[in-house]
Amino acid sequence: MAHKGLAETPVTALKGVGPKSAERLQRLGIESVQDLLFHLPIRYQDRTRIVPIGSLRPGDQAVIQGEVESAEIRFGRRRSLLVRLVDGSGGITLRFFHFSAAQQGNMSRGAWLRCFGEVRNGPNSYELVHPEVQRVAEGEAAAVEQALTPIYPTTEGMHQLTWRDLTGRALALLEQGGLQELLPDEIRIAHAMPELADAVRLLHRPPPDQSRQLLSDNGHPAQRRLALEELLAHQLGLRALRQRQRRRRAPTLRGGGRLQQALLDQLPFMLTRAQRRVLAQLNQDLARPHPALRLVQGDVGSGKTIVAALAALCCVEAGHQAALMAPTELLAEQHLRNFGAWLEPLGIRLGGLSGRHKGKRRDTTLQGLADGSIQVIVGTHALFQGDVVFDRLGLVIVDEQHRFGVHQRLALHEKGAAGQVPHQLVMTATPIPRTLAMTAYADLDLSVIDELPPGRTPVSTVVVADARRDQVVERVARACIEGRQAYWVCTLIEESEVLQCQAAEDTAAVLAEVLEGLRVGLVHGRLKAPEKEAVMTAFKDGDIDLLVATTVIEVGVDVPNASLMVIENAERLGLSQLHQLRGRVGRGAQQSHCVLLYHPPLGELAQERLAVVRETNDGFEIARRDLAMRGPGEVLGTRQTGEMQFRIADLLRDQDMVPQVQALADRLLEEHPACVAPLMHRWIGHKVQYADV
Ligand code: ADP
Ligand code: MG
Repeated sequence: MAHKGLAETPVTALKGVGPKSAERLQRLGIESVQDLLFHLPIRYQDRTRIVPIGSLRPGDQAVIQGEVESAEIRFGRRRSLLVRLVDGSGGITLRFFHFSAAQQGNMSRGAWLRCFGEVRNGPNSYELVHPEVQRVAEGEAAAVEQALTPIYPTTEGMHQLTWRDLTGRALALLEQGGLQELLPDEIRIAHAMPELADAVRLLHRPPPDQSRQLLSDNGHPAQRRLALEELLAHQLGLRALRQRQRRRRAPTLRGGGRLQQALLDQLPFMLTRAQRRVLAQLNQDLARPHPALRLVQGDVGSGKTIVAALAALCCVEAGHQAALMAPTELLAEQHLRNFGAWLEPLGIRLGGLSGRHKGKRRDTTLQGLADGSIQVIVGTHALFQGDVVFDRLGLVIVDEQHRFGVHQRLALHEKGAAGQVPHQLVMTATPIPRTLAMTAYADLDLSVIDELPPGRTPVSTVVVADARRDQVVERVARACIEGRQAYWVCTLIEESEVLQCQAAEDTAAVLAEVLEGLRVGLVHGRLKAPEKEAVMTAFKDGDIDLLVATTVIEVGVDVPNASLMVIENAERLGLSQLHQLRGRVGRGAQQSHCVLLYHPPLGELAQERLAVVRETNDGFEIARRDLAMRGPGEVLGTRQTGEMQFRIADLLRDQDMVPQVQALADRLLEEHPACVAPLMHRWIGHKVQYADV
């Protein structure tokens, strides 16, 4: 057993781990002894010394020892046993609601007890409620614990004592080796990092002199070292993925720029500096013989669509096909309209493909894609169904989709011509803070459109209790009478889609009645595609004053004349969703307003969310606050839930290590390439996403 790696040693090799415990451990992802050793305590108790009773403070967890001064049963609201324990420094009450006669006998006057528990404020003095109690001899010198007591994250049926027992056995095995140090000594020493085995040992059984504070803040060098190693392995994994991608062939798309210029000449506006910069980056990407993988971030309204159209033109001019994929049919239709207006005057053949395209129409489109006569296709996920075959697909643009796994991206590759992989561009209005992006998206290049088109005035936002709904309705009426347009968004988070649509229908009916003379339209997910399209077109053309909608309009919808947005039950929505919805207004030059209607009472978090949206229009700031409030798992979506799951590291907590991780990754690849594969294997070996690409 001695030299077998602990990564290959199943937990069942430990005494006391039968099939049942093995199954419980597996629920926590623990299969090998190494997994068990990487299952670190969440906190620690100090049972290494006896604390004078007089020095206790509420919230302390401590071992105390003393003599029972009195013990009595109280019959208050609940029958309880109150034991008064004293040492030379002070006294404290032990309170029990359940107790046996034997326990009671054990704690009679004059007995010596050693107790462990958490100190609370009681009615007359500090108390320990249901402490662990042990009878000792008078003045017995302490045979207390030698190390801080670890408390493990656990699952049903696994007690802390079991965890201590199991990790104890695993640590005994560790003494015989089997957990290889993978970081080169010179790097480890230069960064003052403890050795792996020492770090693991320390974290499972910290000596009493270690700071519990540092440990519970996850700031101990041993914890940092493990988190760093894990982050490093992920970084290396993403870089390997990136390298493999970059080695594949992609068509070189170098148009002369004639088509791009023709479109620019025809636009009623000039590109912003940020749009020009990002477009230049895209043009460079496309001219390379290897597949581009770029994430373009730009706040709502920063003008990503036109940049996408220009990139598509570069592709078309080079003789290849471009595909634009949107997350909803509504958005796909809007893009199709925009692209039609921009590209058709240039003589480019455009197609549309979404779930609603069926039968003959779909067949014709598929034919056009296969024979290359359709040069640019706009659609939904339907674009990537098995029977969709392209002639010369050169570029795939995915709009409004940051929750996008490595797998999904790779599926798009299949659509390239033989031996070639199309270039890829992902556009999102949900910005990801830089350090997070550098870790989670190390396999992508990043571009940021960090400027809004000129003349936009920030949306002014108010938070209003729904008791004042009538005033809000009046406000809508005034805006519409002045010739502006408005959205009214109905939200019902937990309920079914049917109910949501029902709520929107009811709201629309009521509003149409009170707003006599105004034209009220309705759009929701259960309308048929042509109906949705008709409503959106009417709204865009100014034939509808007030559009009542569900959150289907959340992303992408662009109607610049709309300048008032009312969101019902805003307290139920997340930060980024509120920001997205609000982004539907403030697209024209006139001052826009957003009214967040809520139903009191507001919870603390909801209050904070609404305050953030009211205070700022900056998508990056909102993303930062979102991250702090929800954590990276939620913010990153698939990335975190699937591929970016960490055992020890935490992207938010350990952000400060990211630059160091990147530098270390460079250095390892350069100077110690032999340790790269084992590191990746240790931390992400089980994740096919990285390994099998
Ligand atoms: P988003 O980045 O949210 O997808 P859109 O591409 O929908 O934004 O653009 C928002 C609006 O701004 C559209 O009406 C678009 O035509 C307009 N627009 C884009 N770029 C500019 C610009 N440089 N100057 C003025 N208006 C612009
Ligand atoms: Mg958009």
